[in-house]
Amino acid sequence: MKKLSTIILFAISVSLCYPNVVNAERAPSTSKGRGYYEERGEIVWEVPTHNKVIALTFDDGPDEQNTVQILDLLQQYNAKATFFVVGSRVEKHPEIVARELHEGHEIGNHSYSHPPFHNINVSKLTSELNRTQDAIFHATGIRTALFRPPGGSYNEAIVRTSKDFGMLTVLWSWHQDTLDWRKPGVNRIVKKVLDNAHNGDIVLMHDFVPSSTQTVEALKVILPELQRRGYEFVTVSELLSYHEKTRKFIEVNH
Ligand SMILES: [Zn+2]
Repeated sequence: MKKLSTIILFAISVSLCYPNVVNAERAPSTSKGRGYYEERGEIVWEVPTHNKVIALTFDDGPDEQNTVQILDLLQQYNAKATFFVVGSRVEKHPEIVARELHEGHEIGNHSYSHPPFHNINVSKLTSELNRTQDAIFHATGIRTALFRPPGGSYNEAIVRTSKDFGMLTVLWSWHQDTLDWRKPGVNRIVKKVLDNAHNGDIVLMHDFVPSSTQTVEALKVILPELQRRGYEFVTVSELLSYHEKTRKFIEVNH
């Protein structure tokens, strides 16, 4: 309780100082935007490195159709990925999340009910993170050190609260936002990833897009082509091991 009241007090003081909630895509240039958090190692968008590594990330799952097909494809290409799961869906399909971990992939927290995060209050935020950590723990026996806020929204309270849970906030490379949730067509998803692929990218995709198989179909092209170019597909934590500030965070919290 003391911790919660501390968080609330902190959030109030922060919100007085910094009334503008920062959105990852729309307002990167505010005084506490990307540069501030990236420098402090509190939010990660990508990990510049000389190594030919890329982190594929899948949000909003698990889904009994798409996630399973994605796992099969990843296995076929010996690729590792990170799944930012929604707690309420983890409770429906714990066996899929267990399979993700068992096959060497990483799990991240993506909230419990995927509410809008741009104006979320701290008590709701705390509950969303807590319930998802519990759901992941029940499914896998582990707690994750990675958090991705819905919509990529971030502010001081979100970053601090995820830190209080021992989680690092992870977003994605701006040039690797596939917008697959909008069902733009398989070719567009493929082109976005292949035309922009760089070492250390964090690619944003979704393994739960109702009545769409576009992400799965796109992966059938993306995986072999990037592999042909010499890329290795790694988890977010493995990617972070190339990055001094965030590596320390992960070492402490894993
Ligand atoms: Zn999401």
